[in-house]
Amino acid sequence: MSDEIAAIIGEMQLVGRLLHSRGIFAGRAGNLSARLADGRLLITRSGTHKALLDREALLLLDAQGAPLEAGKPSSEAPLHLAAYAARPEVGAVIHAHAPACTTLAMLHQSLDTAATEEGRIGLGRVPLLPPAEAGDPEAAARWGMEVANGAKAALLDAHGVIVWGRDLRDAFARLETCESLADLQWRMAVLRSTLER
Ligand SMILES: [Zn+2]
Repeated sequence: MSDEIAAIIGEMQLVGRLLHSRGIFAGRAGNLSARLADGRLLITRSGTHKALLDREALLLLDAQGAPLEAGKPSSEAPLHLAAYAARPEVGAVIHAHAPACTTLAMLHQSLDTAATEEGRIGLGRVPLLPPAEAGDPEAAARWGMEVANGAKAALLDAHGVIVWGRDLRDAFARLETCESLADLQWRMAVLRSTLER
C-alpha cells in the first residue's frame, strides 16, 4: 500500500469515527471518498460501517469512477463522482443521513444557512435536491451542476445530506456545520411554535 493511500485511510478512519460518535453516521448508512494526487479515488464499499473502516472497506476507482479492484462501490458513487468532475479542488466527499439534516430533508425543508456566520460564510446557499433513487445519474448531474456553481453542500430530499471539501477534514467540518445548523433550525421551529401557542 502506498504512503498516500495509507494516509488517506488514516484520515477516513478518524473522520468515520468522529462522525459516528456524533451520531451523524449510524449503522451502515452514508459513504466517504477522497481523491488521490493522480486522480484516482478511494470510496467506501457498499454496506461498510463507517466507524470500522480499514483497507478492505475501501475500493480504489480510476479518475472516471471505474473500479480498479473487485467489489462494489457505495451505491451513491455517482454523487461522489459528479462532485470530483465539477471542480478540481474537490478532494473529498461525504454523504450521511445526519439526523437533523435528514429530518429537514424528510419534511422537504431547505437548510437556512443565513442564521449564523458559519452558515453564511462557511457554507453559503445549500440547495435542496429533488428526491431520487440511490445512484440516479440525473440526481448526480444536478449535484455536479450545483458544485460547479459554488455549492459546498446539499440536502437530498427525503434522504440526507452531501458535502465536499478540499480534503476529508474540510468535508467533515462542513458536514458538522450543516448538522449543527439543521439542529438549530429544528430547535428554533419547535420553540417558535410553542411560544406562538
Ligand atoms: Zn444515503
